[in-house]
Amino acid sequence: MEYEAVIGLEVHVQIKAESKIFTRCKAGFGFEPNTLVDPVVMGLPGALPVMNKKALDGVIKAGLALNCTIPDVCKWDRKNYFYPDSPNNYQITQYDQPICEGGLVEIELSGDSRAAMGEHKKIQLTRIHLENDVGKLNHFTEDSLVDYNRAGTSLMEIVTEPDMHSGDEAFAFLTAVRQIMVYCGISDCDMEKGQMRADANISVRPVGQKELGSKIELKNLNSITGVKNGIEYEIKRQTRELKKGNTITQATWRWDADQGRTESMREKEDAHDYRYLPDPDLMPVRIDDEWKNWIRAEIPELPFDKQRRFIEAYDLPYTITSVLVPDRELSEYFEAAAKRSPKMAQAIGNYVTNDVLRELSETGQSLAECKVTAEHLLSLVNAVEKGTITKQIGKDVFLEMFKSGELADAVIERKGLKPNFDEDQVKVWCQEAIDENPRPVDDFKAGNEKALNALLGPVMKKSRGKANPQIVNQLLRELIS
Ligand code: ADP
Ligand code: MG
Repeated sequence: MEYEAVIGLEVHVQIKAESKIFTRCKAGFGFEPNTLVDPVVMGLPGALPVMNKKALDGVIKAGLALNCTIPDVCKWDRKNYFYPDSPNNYQITQYDQPICEGGLVEIELSGDSRAAMGEHKKIQLTRIHLENDVGKLNHFTEDSLVDYNRAGTSLMEIVTEPDMHSGDEAFAFLTAVRQIMVYCGISDCDMEKGQMRADANISVRPVGQKELGSKIELKNLNSITGVKNGIEYEIKRQTRELKKGNTITQATWRWDADQGRTESMREKEDAHDYRYLPDPDLMPVRIDDEWKNWIRAEIPELPFDKQRRFIEAYDLPYTITSVLVPDRELSEYFEAAAKRSPKMAQAIGNYVTNDVLRELSETGQSLAECKVTAEHLLSLVNAVEKGTITKQIGKDVFLEMFKSGELADAVIERKGLKPNFDEDQVKVWCQEAIDENPRPVDDFKAGNEKALNALLGPVMKKSRGKANPQIVNQLLRELIS
């Protein structure tokens, strides 16, 4: 019997905001433990929550960018449970009236090769709701310590339908969501800082069976690759069990990245009694069209749309777009130059993805610090295009521009890179090359166009790379005929 896997993800994303979700208390990562706290965060008696509008803005933006419906009203509920990382005995969350419903996320499956655009498909969302994050427990040999800095941070939970079927799809989904969140400025989604966390629900069923199999909820997935690996391991394990005639019991398991395997954490009590009840301290929120519209206006062009446009409008190869587009700043940097000279876009894209990125990484600079601006890129590609310098010399000019911040023409002038177009001298070199290489000359005469390349090389060598290949090409033709 053949089996297929079914996967649904629950993704938590922290919303980037100065303060926490229900208080002015500062939000942040990497501070001394228990310094980002106040009476609301600590759930002290008498402290009352006040909604942070920035958190709502962030979720509305995420919902619009992920094609959700935003109902007119959402409300707050208490999810009651006790755990030491939560100072209240409940979490404020959204139960039956979340801020976003439904939704669709476009993903790309990259397959084996990065050279061509991969297969695209859409993954269905169930909902997105907003809640407060909990603190962090740190376990040591003798005791455990709790840090409440994270407690009360604005957190959204994105829940998917059981709509994925492989580790690769889950990987592509998380990559797409992260890129959209970063593009929209909603979150930096740094998984190492806990800004994005994912749990995976995995079940396996015989192909053709309609009902879903019992699921395992997989926790402790600390990176997008971890999610993919954990899911792949779990699919194999469950399939093996089912083939042996065993059943899967719904439970929570954890991924052990070091050992490369999953292990049981706890049997899932099916009916958690969270005793959800509307939070009496917070009013329901009405979100009108005006609010949605101004947030919609803040959403930039999304990554896949930009990629399709770059390929279309600038005739860029997929490989270049797949370096440019994931980084919004880099893609905007490219486009600032490309839109002023669309015909030169490929050359600009090459400089940006090879030379700019290489030098930035070698010098440890950020793009914002880079002295090479759109103006510089244009001056360089124009100098090469006009034939003032060769492509090869263009590489050196780039390095000089990067160091000094001069435009290409100034570098060419200062370093004397402009060939002295004493055409007579170039003609002499061409004649020499013709005399020294009778074979290719004959081949060319016999109609083999490519044979001319065998003469071009020697002339370029004689000119130390400074002759303009187009002119050399022309002179060679004239001299031979
Ligand atoms: P729970 O009540 O256990 O939290 P939910 O129905 O809320 O379960 O679903 C949580 C997540 O698990 C969702 O992303 C959903 O798509 C996914 N899911 C639910 N059932 C299955 C299943 N049988 N196999 C895989 N994923 C599932
Ligand atoms: Mg659930």
